[in-house]
Amino acid sequence: MEQTLSVSEIKPESWIVSAGRWPDPGAPLNVPPFLASNYVLGGDRIYARSAGTPTWEALETIVGGLEGGRAVAFASGMAAAAAVFGQLPAGSVVAIPDDCYQGVARLAERGARQGRWEVHRVAVDDTAAWVRMCAVADLIWIESPSNPLLLVADLDAIGRAPRKPGTILAVDNTFATPLGQRPLDFGATVSVHSATKFIGGHSDLLAGVVVTRDEGLWQSLRTSREIAGAVPGALESFLAVRGARTLALRLAQSQETAMLLAQRLARHPVVARVRYPGLPSHPTHAVARKVLKGFGAVISFELRGGGELADRVCREVRLIRHATSLGGVESTMERRAVLPGQEHLPPSLIRLSVGIEDPEDLWNDLDRALRVAAEAV
Ligand SMILES: *Cc1c(COP(=O)(O)O)cnc(C)c1O
Repeated sequence: MEQTLSVSEIKPESWIVSAGRWPDPGAPLNVPPFLASNYVLGGDRIYARSAGTPTWEALETIVGGLEGGRAVAFASGMAAAAAVFGQLPAGSVVAIPDDCYQGVARLAERGARQGRWEVHRVAVDDTAAWVRMCAVADLIWIESPSNPLLLVADLDAIGRAPRKPGTILAVDNTFATPLGQRPLDFGATVSVHSATKFIGGHSDLLAGVVVTRDEGLWQSLRTSREIAGAVPGALESFLAVRGARTLALRLAQSQETAMLLAQRLARHPVVARVRYPGLPSHPTHAVARKVLKGFGAVISFELRGGGELADRVCREVRLIRHATSLGGVESTMERRAVLPGQEHLPPSLIRLSVGIEDPEDLWNDLDRALRVAAEAV
């Protein structure tokens, strides 16, 4: 008897709670962390690096269903990205955004220096340039919304553009989450996640996921994982599944608060500019309305002052944690231009990942930190 509903019968918010469980009577309700490297011979599984474990599969079932494809889970978002880049034959042409996750930019630039491919940088919001690249590149890597400027790419238009046969259109969907954007529906070949962020949601694990509808590519990504050994950990997979169960609630709360904070920050005397896709002033607000469901939980803002003022604000917050990364239940923020490779950013730009704390407490914390810092610097 089939006891579980398929993804087409229920809302994503229900799927994320119900998927990746065993239907068998007497089975644990939650798939436990499988601490196994090898299995007794004679069955389907021989060795975990190649055969996987039920815990990874639970994560893959959940995220694959949400994105409308089949997933492969990895040790981290970067392991997932490296597996996608690893599909390219020597001498390929790669296009990546000029604003994107620094690790991916390093992966691309390093491969270029090693002579593996040639890299072109494209502005996230330059749709015409992406469309042109689709005709000539072997890998189009789009991150949207982008880090940290939160520019939203017009996946609807780019996904329709004619592509060279075999070209991989990859979308790093980490900031939008599988609930906020479904790149495969726009024609992307793969959707990539750092599950370390919103999917895990608690800043306590590293994991990555790639989802595709291309069966051959899915197999090849599994082979890449097996050969590179970039496998997710048992506990990490378990925690990612556990975190994913509440993604819809966390994201709804964080997005609502993010909009409120963005609106108030935009009117704050110490703030010069707010970058949030939900604000009509954002350069890609119209595109965001078209391709995203929800404007996300990350805000970037610049101050009426320099890096010193921004550093001070980051030290002054008491509820928001001064930390890198994003997507956790706890709000975190940091100044970005201090990071290697991010020197081109406005010196005072702060990226804020909005968690699930009380919105007024968060606002009071931010407002106080901004005022105290502005007086001190
Ligand atoms: C964090 C992040 C990555 C890398 O993921 P890890 O899990 O840290 O390896 C890739 N892309 C984006 C957009 C990210 O935020």
